[in-house]
Amino acid sequence: MRNIAVLTSGGDAPGMNMAIRTIVRSGFHYGFNVYGVYNGYKGLVKGEIKQMTRETVSRILNRGGTILGSARYPQFLEEKYQKIAAKNLKEHDIDGLIVIGGDGTFRGALALHKFGIKCVGLPGTIDNDIPSTDYTIGFFTALNTAVEAIDRLRDTSFSHRRCSVVEVMGRNCGDLALYAGIAVGSEFIITPETGYDKKKTLDAVKGSYRRNKRHAVVVVTENMLDVNKLAKTIVEEVGYETRATVLGHVQRGGNPTAFDRVLATEMSEYAVELLSKDIGGKVVALRGMDIIDVGIEDALTMEKQVSNKRYGLVGKLVR
Ligand code: ATP
Repeated sequence: MRNIAVLTSGGDAPGMNMAIRTIVRSGFHYGFNVYGVYNGYKGLVKGEIKQMTRETVSRILNRGGTILGSARYPQFLEEKYQKIAAKNLKEHDIDGLIVIGGDGTFRGALALHKFGIKCVGLPGTIDNDIPSTDYTIGFFTALNTAVEAIDRLRDTSFSHRRCSVVEVMGRNCGDLALYAGIAVGSEFIITPETGYDKKKTLDAVKGSYRRNKRHAVVVVTENMLDVNKLAKTIVEEVGYETRATVLGHVQRGGNPTAFDRVLATEMSEYAVELLSKDIGGKVVALRGMDIIDVGIEDALTMEKQVSNKRYGLVGKLVR
């Protein structure tokens, strides 16, 4: 019987629990003992490692967040902590580790892999900012949350003839804003990929104002600009009464959508299968309809493809 472990790290994402459940159950299928590492790499260094059973993962598949807890732990960039982590795993005879998180989490896995632990990474983040995979676990749940929130804003802005400027998450990736912007029929989207063009933004909103539209929506990725300031500019230069809304951490929570549950299950099962073949140093990815694996180092050096066609949709449909 071999021992493997699972940890979640970085920002939590809906679907992580489904992934943990699958790793435990599929692990049993392949004859592994499965351990849970609590609180990411921080817990790994502190030795927070417990054996998991079917019961520890029952009734979690529909819950957001992660039952294992997560942490940001910058100390893990230092080799001395990586060595302690590898030693803690070896003390439990664990030689395979599945990590669920973003690219920072993958960097931690790469470090551990170099200390003899076979690591497999699963992309779990709401931002969809991992270039090696088409979609990450949690993205579509966060997207649905953002879309539902913007639909609600539209109800009230329609009643008062207003424009809504809505900030969504995404860090350095505009996918949440792009997909949400398309889904709610926004006037304009502003993302790290498009940059902020004040004139184009105001022209798009002006077009709707002149056509007597009762509502308009601009969707913006976080950290791009001050949404309150943009709202004020729209009031002054377009005429719409305007409100800014920052959706914030509500986008992180909630029950995972069916798609995220299925994606988490397929990716997790694939990861366990890799470990059963004694393969580590990989991250799992979705490409088209297929679940595949990519070397961790390759995954970390890839560039994310930007869909100009998808960005173009917003401009084509507003007028
Ligand atoms: P998200 O995209 O949701 O923010 P993430 O995995 O990218 O997720 P980070 O905070 O960047 O989130 O990374 C998670 C953890 O991984 C860090 O707190 C740290 O413990 C570890 N980590 C990040 N970068 C490295 C690195 N270069 N070497 C070793 N460990 C790292």
